[in-house]
Amino acid sequence: MSQGQSGGAGARALPSGPWITCRDVLERLYDYLDGELTAAWERRVARHLDGCPDCRARLVFERSFLEAVRRGRAPTVARTALSILTR
Ligand SMILES: [Zn+2]
Repeated sequence: MSQGQSGGAGARALPSGPWITCRDVLERLYDYLDGELTAAWERRVARHLDGCPDCRARLVFERSFLEAVRRGRAPTVARTALSILTR
């Protein structure tokens, strides 16, 4: 349990093993959504999402954003972000 794992700087108290950090997930979120991850990574990301509400919320957000962009519509989220940026 007290084995020093070279996980990542400031890694949280996550169990070692198949678990990956939120950063690992976020870095691969788009690939995950595009289905471009290897099966091993896809499984890891899916497992992380299963136990991490933060990343799941992020996934839902990014997916709805991507889908809106693909449909060629101006997504509400983008408009909201724009109204913040242009203020
Ligand atoms: Zn996470």
